[in-house]
Amino acid sequence: MQIRTKIAIQFTIIIAAILIIFSLAIYYTSENFRKQEFYNRLTDRALLTAGLLKELKITEKDKKKLRDANKTFLTKLNTEKVLMFNEKNELVYASYEAESFLFSPDFLNQVRKQRYVETSDWANQVIGTMYEDEEKKSYVVVASASDKYGQDKLKNIRDTLVISFIIGILLTIFLGVIFAGQSLKPIADINEEITNITAYNLKQKLSTGNNKDEIAQLAINFNQMLERLERSFELQKSFVSNASHELRTPLAAIKSEIQIALENDRTPAEYKSILRSLLTDNQRLIQLTNGLLQLAKSENRDNSLVMKPTRLDELLFKAQEEVLNQNSDYKISIDFDDIPDDDEWVSTNGNEALLLTVFTNLLENACKYSPEHQAEAKIKFNEQHCIVAVKDNGIGIPASELSKIFEPFYRTPNASKYRGHGIGLSICRRIIDMHQGKIDVTSEEGKGSTFVVTLPHL
Ligand code: ADP
Repeated sequence: MQIRTKIAIQFTIIIAAILIIFSLAIYYTSENFRKQEFYNRLTDRALLTAGLLKELKITEKDKKKLRDANKTFLTKLNTEKVLMFNEKNELVYASYEAESFLFSPDFLNQVRKQRYVETSDWANQVIGTMYEDEEKKSYVVVASASDKYGQDKLKNIRDTLVISFIIGILLTIFLGVIFAGQSLKPIADINEEITNITAYNLKQKLSTGNNKDEIAQLAINFNQMLERLERSFELQKSFVSNASHELRTPLAAIKSEIQIALENDRTPAEYKSILRSLLTDNQRLIQLTNGLLQLAKSENRDNSLVMKPTRLDELLFKAQEEVLNQNSDYKISIDFDDIPDDDEWVSTNGNEALLLTVFTNLLENACKYSPEHQAEAKIKFNEQHCIVAVKDNGIGIPASELSKIFEPFYRTPNASKYRGHGIGLSICRRIIDMHQGKIDVTSEEGKGSTFVVTLPHL
């Protein structure tokens, strides 16, 4: 079911419920009021008649006169009857002439007991009340009549309420459909705009209307999502072209080396030297593809990664060993700012292999980009975090480049004479992100750089 129809139906149901409650309240209040008012009238009529009959020894002729007066001067109630009974339940007065006046003695006794009784039979309302004359004789006066006028009024009210209800509901349905359609129009518009957006026109944005309401907020969020998608599409595009470029360079070098080698006959020594050079290029290729693989792995944030408590100081020593094994001329010192009381302060819940990659990359860069090939690592900690800082006194990074060095394949111009592909730091940042940590850099061109990794400890 469409939301529009749903809203219209809900709206109608709510209004119908309110209308029914109000109509019933109005009807029952009017009915009660009418009934009470009529009982009061009957009581007045009974007491008035009894008052007129004060002198009870009046003759039948006088009673007839009274009946006539009743008919002539008082407003005649519909089917009105006033009867008066003495203590022996004998009828002493009847406001109309009839053969017999049957009235249950039980009712008369009840009136005597309760002094005043209201009741009703099919069409008539009946009251019974007590009247005492000057000689202290008490009489039961019974008045009954049907409230034709009141009933008509009530019927009128009921008809008006039913008609108003029907008109109200029809109006609500009509307005509900229009109102729901109007409220949902911006969503329908957005829907239409969204269907026109494909992977090829991510630049197209949704109109954000008044920029204030929830729908505008939805459009704004959607636009932001489009921007993020566009950025990641662009990143992917540049990644593919950068990666192919990086792979092509060593492959082209290998190709030309082989071509040159094949041009003439070579001595075994020359072949050996060519093969050694080919091996170096091949190793660079392996390094690069390994880096790309790691980058792909770090992008793939699946849950298959083994995360376990890992000591960062031990990892740092391991990284130092690995870097020194590969580069015998590098010098790396590792220092504790303070000795932790608790091993947990230097341990994090992480993936050992990935964190080792981070520290190896940072130590390698620090040595690679400093003429002395020296790096200094420090482990610090506070209440929540363990912090590893890797410092060098090398070429440094220009301030304008600091924000870009974590992007894949980005290399600063002053680093161009050093070998590298510009993917190590982007891998580091992703790995640290995966561990809910952060990586920062401070640097001064020509003086050196410090990379700081902050990870939550156990
Ligand atoms: P690579 O070192 O292979 O080029 P990285 O991603 O590790 O790739 O580094 C990206 C760029 O950041 C480097 O090319 C270099 O310009 C700069 N950089 C990284 N570490 C340092 C450092 N310790 N000193 C100076 N520049 C650095």
